Amino acid sequence: MENISLAIHGGAGTILKSAMTSEKELAYQKGLQAALDEGYGLLANGGSSIDAVEAAVTSLEDCTLFNAGKGSVFTSEGSHEMDASIMDGSNLMAGAVSAISGVKNPVQLSRLVMEQSGHVFLSGEGAEKFAKQMNCKFESDDYFYDEFRHQQWLEVKGTDQFQLDHSDNKEHKFGTVGAVALDSRGNIAAATSTGGMTNKRFGRIGDSPMIGAGNYANNQTCAVSCTGSGEFFIRGVVAYDVSCLIEYKGLSLAQACHEVVQKRLMKIGGDGGLIAVDTHGNIVLEFNTEGMYRGARNNNGLNEISIYK
Ligand code: ASP
Repeated sequence: MENISLAIHGGAGTILKSAMTSEKELAYQKGLQAALDEGYGLLANGGSSIDAVEAAVTSLEDCTLFNAGKGSVFTSEGSHEMDASIMDGSNLMAGAVSAISGVKNPVQLSRLVMEQSGHVFLSGEGAEKFAKQMNCKFESDDYFYDEFRHQQWLEVKGTDQFQLDHSDNKEHKFGTVGAVALDSRGNIAAATSTGGMTNKRFGRIGDSPMIGAGNYANNQTCAVSCTGSGEFFIRGVVAYDVSCLIEYKGLSLAQACHEVVQKRLMKIGGDGGLIAVDTHGNIVLEFNTEGMYRGARNNNGLNEISIYK
């Protein structure tokens, strides 16, 4: 049997066991397992990696525990602005959307941008207009409203502070979601989706929708989805840097992820993590924070959900 593998994340940060109730932990585990099973089920039935990452991320977007789709954080204006991207490693096709509101599943819109728009990246109103043309599902503000997220925002509202879900002054950490996959035809893909940072400036765009920063896939090297302090991931061109270390320097997937997350990113002050796969079936879940919501599954019996270091 050919190798198939899938890895997912639901954000990285100061996620401490001491700050978690067992009910909450269980809810996170269930949310992650559901997304993992959703994507893996497709792969196991011969589905493509691009379908698998889209399905896994859609499942995480629909889960209110994670900061993407339903459950997205509030901007400084009290709205939700979501970013997402997807990339197909078999042909280097990519699609991305940023600063969109109301669209139920931003990752699905990014796939439509990739396949139907003739462009790679659409933002704001233009992206929403395109979503309507494509008959994407829209939801009202009520759907995206989450009491806890609203409280998070009220704490910093009216200040110049914006709050990463990973900042250490909070007990509860939530972040971006993402998936990377290898399918039975040997193709890899990556998808990432986020609500960004609480109280972020109107129009602020993070790394998640930027091809090469928060998301990247290339059959020659790897597929990567990131989560963390977006400004640093953009400046470090993190996802593409992992790919470059493999392509130009001959590092293994594990070496490249370690080099980028534990050394290069930390040197410029960035915290967070990433998930990655390659066409040999290797999976890496690397982070420099206290924890990262994550899961991985393959055809050799691996089926694991973890949260802490
Ligand atoms: N990287 C995301 C951003 O900066 C945030 C996160 O990963 O939670 O928008």
